[in-house]
Amino acid sequence: MSKAYDYLIVGSGLFGATIAYRLKQAGKTCLVIDKRPHAGGNVYCENVGGVHVHKYGAHIFHTNDDEVWRFVTGLVEFNRYTNSPVANYHGKLYNLPFNMNTFYQMWGVVTPEQAMAKIEEQKKDAVEKLKREGAAEPRNLEEQAQILIGKDIYEKLIKGYTEKQWGRKCTELPAFIIRRLPVRLTFDNNYFNAKYQGIPYGGYNRLVDRLLEGVEVRTGVDFATHRGSLTEMADKVVYTGAIDEYFDFQFGKLEYRTVRFETEDLGIPNYQGNAVVNYTDAETPFTRIIEHKHFDMFGQQVYDVPHTVISREYSSEWKPGMEPYYPVNDQRNNTLYTKYAELARLQPDVIFGGRLAEYKYYDMDQIILRALQTDL
Ligand code: UDP
Repeated sequence: MSKAYDYLIVGSGLFGATIAYRLKQAGKTCLVIDKRPHAGGNVYCENVGGVHVHKYGAHIFHTNDDEVWRFVTGLVEFNRYTNSPVANYHGKLYNLPFNMNTFYQMWGVVTPEQAMAKIEEQKKDAVEKLKREGAAEPRNLEEQAQILIGKDIYEKLIKGYTEKQWGRKCTELPAFIIRRLPVRLTFDNNYFNAKYQGIPYGGYNRLVDRLLEGVEVRTGVDFATHRGSLTEMADKVVYTGAIDEYFDFQFGKLEYRTVRFETEDLGIPNYQGNAVVNYTDAETPFTRIIEHKHFDMFGQQVYDVPHTVISREYSSEWKPGMEPYYPVNDQRNNTLYTKYAELARLQPDVIFGGRLAEYKYYDMDQIILRALQTDL
C-alpha cells in the first residue's frame, strides 16, 4: 500500500529544512516534524521588540563554498555582518582572533617582525617539550595552543575560556578544536577566514521559511514518543536527532555540552558595543555575552532602537532533558559513535544527517553542503 508521504523528516534545523527544500524541488512529498514549538532548530530567532535574538546561541554564517553561498543568497539576502569578537580578560580588552591588534595589546609589539619574534620565543618551551618527548604532533589542546601561539595568549585568552566551555582540562581536549582559530600577522579582526560572511536580513527565520515554503511542517511532535505511527506514514525517513537516542542508547550515551542563556532586555541602546565579548578568565562563570542587535544593526541603527537584549552564556555538561549543543569528540565518544554509525548503515530507508545524527561539530555551511550532496 502506498504511504501518505515519500519522506518523513525528523527535525527542522538547517539539515532537515534543506533536504525538505530539495525534495519539494524534486516533486516528492514530505512531512517535517519538530519537537519544539517552532521550526528552524538552533538557528531560530525570537523577535524581542525589534531585536532578533539568537535564541539557541549566536549563529554567524560564513563559508568558502561558492555553491553554498549561491544557494543561500538565492533564497534570502544577507547583510554585511563580520564577526570580530573581543576578549575581556580581567577587565582588559583584546581583539580576536589572534592578530596584530592582539599582539600589540598583549606585548606592545608594533611590526609583524617583532610579533613573529615574540611568538617564537613564547612557543619555545612547548616546541622543546614535544621534541624531548618524541611527539611528532601536539597531543592535546594545551600543546596545540602553545605551539600555535605561545604561553601568554594560551594563559590569558584560551585556557580559562576553553575549560569553561568544555568543562574539561585543556590537556584532556582534542587539538583540532583550537585549530579552528586563525592566527594572523595583519591588523585584521575578522574572526573567520571565509570568503563569504553575513546574516540574513530579517534574521534566520526568513531563511528557514524559504526552505520550508510549501512543505508540511508539524511542530510540537516528538518522534521518540510517536515513532511507530510516524514511521508508517512515509517510505523513507531523514533523521536529524541524536543518533544514540534513535538506537535507544543500546551501546551507552554519547556526551554533549549544553549551553544555558541568561537573557536580559536592557533599557539602554548599546551595552557593550559589539555582538560578542568573550570572558576568557576562569573566574567569570559565563563564557561570553552576546548583544544581539549588533548582528543586524549598524551605526545609527543601533541608537534608533532604544533598548538592547543581551545573553550571558553558561556552558555545562548535558543531561537528559537538556538541549544537546556541542558533541564532545573525545576518544570514548568517537568510538561509541562509530558503533552507532555502523547500525545506521544497516538502515537503507533512513538517512542520518546533521550535527546530532552525525555527532560532529559542524558549521552551518557544512551542514547545508551535506544536505545538498546527500543522496536521496
Ligand atoms: N577559544 C578560546 N578563546 C576564545 C574563543 C575561542 O580559547 O576567546 C577556543 C575554545 O577552545 C573554543 C574554540 O576556540 O572551543 C573554538 O571557538 P569557536 O569560536 O570556533 O567556537 P564556537 O563559536 O563554535 O563556540
